Amino acid sequence: MILLDGQAVAAAIRCELSQQVHRLQVSSGKVPHLAVILIGHDPASHTYVDAKLKACRAVGFKTTVIRHATIQEADLLHQMVQLNNDPMIDGLIVQLPLPPHISVPRVIHHMKPEKDVDGFHALNYGRMARSLPAHIPATPLGILILLARYQLETSGKHCVIVGRSRTVGAPLSILMSRDGYPGNATVTLCHSHTQHLSALTRQADILVAAVGRPRLITADMVKKGAVVIDVGITREPDQTRKLGYRLQGDVDFARVAPRCSYITPVPGGVGPMTIAALLLNTLRAAQNQVYVTDQGI
Ligand code: NAP
Repeated sequence: MILLDGQAVAAAIRCELSQQVHRLQVSSGKVPHLAVILIGHDPASHTYVDAKLKACRAVGFKTTVIRHATIQEADLLHQMVQLNNDPMIDGLIVQLPLPPHISVPRVIHHMKPEKDVDGFHALNYGRMARSLPAHIPATPLGILILLARYQLETSGKHCVIVGRSRTVGAPLSILMSRDGYPGNATVTLCHSHTQHLSALTRQADILVAAVGRPRLITADMVKKGAVVIDVGITREPDQTRKLGYRLQGDVDFARVAPRCSYITPVPGGVGPMTIAALLLNTLRAAQNQVYVTDQGI
């Protein structure tokens, strides 16, 4: 079994990106700039935003973070329009989840697609589905990069994805079935209505778990030699840890790992790759590389 070391791959990507940032600055005077809006006090959201900002600074990006204890939807949308129109800002994120009085679809709709480095806007999603240049959601993009860096074969493989969220499972199913590498896989997308889940997961050459249920994927659900990608992150109380919790994936790592050819750990697998992919999207936004090619429209 080989560990898919997202931490190490993400560190290598950060190193490559900081060189590209330097080149961009020398050639055009431009420094990529990511703005993040964070609303409320969700501890996990604060941790994710801090990690994103830290990674941005490590590669030489400028960052702006706007924290609101609470905000009305109209005021948030107004602030987004200002950031959309600010030529100094290249990428914009509104950290999810949002408080219940704010409509997530409306917020995503208000994002300027060129600055939507999370890749959630319908225009980016549609362009991604048509294999046109687009900001691709960071977690699926991070998974593709991880597969590619380890040169794992995907063509003709059966990829079973558990979880169909619009940020992870659903876009990944499109990307893995696209004509190209990584892609050309035969994809099965599972969710809470799926019957006979283990019969499907046992067929997977590449198994992706993106559910948020600790240890849902047990050893008997995994084919010997499978590649297993664990997206799940759940905080489980653990008084032996300094923070009072530990991070647990959707995969029962200790029992599943011996059956796999490759597997991602939690933490240190998909998480760092998600942040690396966000950096990549932000750099491409700063370089105006996303919407230059309109072939096929
Ligand atoms: P989500 O929006 O809650 O979606 C969960 C999906 O799992 C849904 O499609 C749901 O089905 C499905 N599901 C729930 N119970 C199931 C079951 N028993 N069997 C089969 N499918 C089931 O979650 P998400 O945003 O994709 O996140 C999933 C996990 O990944 C969470 O732990 C999250 O924290 C983590 N995550 C990690 C990263 C990272 O960078 N590592 C990034 C994003 C998310 P229905 O659609 O039918 O409800």
